[in-house]
Amino acid sequence: MGKTKDELADACTRCGSFCCTYYALPLENPENQEDFDDFRWFLMHYGNFIYKDAGDWYLNVASPCRHLSADGRCTAYDARPAICRKHGHDEDEECEFFGGYEFEETLCSVEEVEAYAVRILGLGRDDVKGWFICQDDAFWKALADKGP
Ligand code: SF4
Repeated sequence: MGKTKDELADACTRCGSFCCTYYALPLENPENQEDFDDFRWFLMHYGNFIYKDAGDWYLNVASPCRHLSADGRCTAYDARPAICRKHGHDEDEECEFFGGYEFEETLCSVEEVEAYAVRILGLGRDDVKGWFICQDDAFWKALADKGP
């Protein structure tokens, strides 16, 4: 549920404006090798991770806003975009300070994407030759140990 103006003002002061340090973009649901190959590419870049929330996938990009001051304030406050104005006020735009950001899936590395793709697509070792970075025995043993 959205918070009051006072609750949000207090949260901003105490949080350090975490919501101004990243953005997230919606992704297509991954269904095949090409989709997971795109996921791998996203995670080959520093600062990115991918998550699934309420059935939808997103790319999270760690990139602080250029209008965020060193003391965590917005230097464009009066002209800030609507997405900033709505954050914390809408039910779909909860403030991170109050929690509620437990995702269904979180993929933080190429290795995690590859393990996830194996599970979802039912891939075997021969299927990923020349495609996956993770080809060693340790990767497959870890997957087998985890089980389905
Ligand atoms: S414009 Fe202001 S409120 Fe919006 S992300 Fe940048 S610093 Fe944060």
